[in-house]
Amino acid sequence: MKAQFNATSIELAAGDITLETTDAIVNAANEHLAGGAGVDGAIHRAGGPAIMAECRKIGGCPTGQAVITTGGWLAARYVIHTVGPIYKGGAKGEAGLLSSAYTNSLKLAATKGLQSIAFPAISCGIYGYPVHEAAHLALAACIEFARKNNGIKLIRHVLFDQRTFNIFEQEFKKLV
Ligand code: ADP
Repeated sequence: MKAQFNATSIELAAGDITLETTDAIVNAANEHLAGGAGVDGAIHRAGGPAIMAECRKIGGCPTGQAVITTGGWLAARYVIHTVGPIYKGGAKGEAGLLSSAYTNSLKLAATKGLQSIAFPAISCGIYGYPVHEAAHLALAACIEFARKNNGIKLIRHVLFDQRTFNIFEQEFKKLV
């Protein structure tokens, strides 16, 4: 499924984000940029040690913010590391932080002059965010960004499992 918002196409895809050929892929990192399980581990395994070497130099990233490194061995030239919130019931500012993780990643990509970016379902794994709410926030943040900015031509949401893909599709249909 895809839809156009001004100069930007927003798409949903199923699969493994480490195989994406967009200018940047986004990592659902932790505040220490220490690597880990889930998509974070997959990106470091596929991209090799150059990514972690840069993460160590950067040192960390607060929740809701984003930093950028090389893509190492990946097809994508860059990895944007953002930190989504750990879901603690929804009254701890989680929604604002999740929206910020998307928006700050997009701003960083635009600042670097990148034209295409792929996101995983940030916070939807170990961090426990309810997927319907997370999908709505993710897509709404990207649509708002696309309506206000025109440097990024493609934003792709790469969903790893069928359930997450289906929920993103349901929420996307409501927003288009
Ligand atoms: P978080 O800690 O932000 O919840 P996770 O990595 O645990 O991050 O999960 C985020 C989402 O990424 C989950 O939907 C998970 O299924 C998905 N995921 C895991 N591996 C990959 C991958 N290789 N490509 C794309 N998405 C992935």
